[in-house]
Amino acid sequence: MQVFSNIVELRNSIKLLKSQGKTIELVPTMGALHKGHLSLIEKASQNSDIVVVSIFVNPTQFGVGEDFEKYPKNLDGDLAKLSATDAKLIFVPNVEDIYGNSEEQVIEFKLNKYTDILCGKNRDGHFEGVCQIVTKLFNIIEPDIAAFGEKDFQQLFIIKQLVKELNFNVKVVGGEIIRDEFGLALSSRNQYLSDSELDIARKLNVILEESLKNFKLGVGSWKLEAEEQILKAGFDKIDYIEIRNENSLELEDNFTESSRIFAAAYIRNTRLIDNLKI
Ligand code: AMP
Repeated sequence: MQVFSNIVELRNSIKLLKSQGKTIELVPTMGALHKGHLSLIEKASQNSDIVVVSIFVNPTQFGVGEDFEKYPKNLDGDLAKLSATDAKLIFVPNVEDIYGNSEEQVIEFKLNKYTDILCGKNRDGHFEGVCQIVTKLFNIIEPDIAAFGEKDFQQLFIIKQLVKELNFNVKVVGGEIIRDEFGLALSSRNQYLSDSELDIARKLNVILEESLKNFKLGVGSWKLEAEEQILKAGFDKIDYIEIRNENSLELEDNFTESSRIFAAAYIRNTRLIDNLKI
């Protein structure tokens, strides 16, 4: 395993590997690695010769007042976890390597309707920042494949659009959501939660599953009931709870095979997201 912070050195290594006919798969992360990240890496190592993992807490995808400053960082722990995987190249740039002296977005990424719904509605500029960093990573690494988790389903969807619109020669693949034994979707942000808050967080997936079942049964008040239950479970605020078609992200009027439920809710300042289908 080799760790790079320098873009030119990483590119030279990748160029050499490509000249040997190796296929390259990128798994972009913000670090504080958990089993969700590791499952993407494991799958990537089955599909591609060389797995590149990037660790970069991207400032441009955080809004004002969000947790950029306190986002969990544990590079030594991450590298220890990665050394037990088949990941070969680890890219750990600092902000200046990626953005120089300015994080100003010279190119604005607007992916029409998809960036303004769900997580984009109240996180102004979030997906624009995601598209900016993913574009940079794709241009630096030029992977054959890039893997993203369904935990961030909208992100995966938007990146597929980005690749299509900008003709990136990258195949985007999704990885299933990895959950703890109570069904809580693993997230680096779960580290912010106390034990009693974890108990609250673990109720979200249960409520989502029940709500999607209610929707399937035609219960008109499914959303009101879901909101009530989320607040009763101990969440402090709901950002959204919606059922959309997973292939178009359009709101669903009736249950279909493609119906997926999406939610974001807060425990204190910690914003948790989840999505699932039945
Ligand atoms: P992050 O470090 O949170 O930006 O996540 C890096 C990648 O790991 C993204 O593609 C996420 O969707 C994915 N990921 C995060 N949590 C999980 C999880 N619980 N299961 C599967 N993939 C995940």
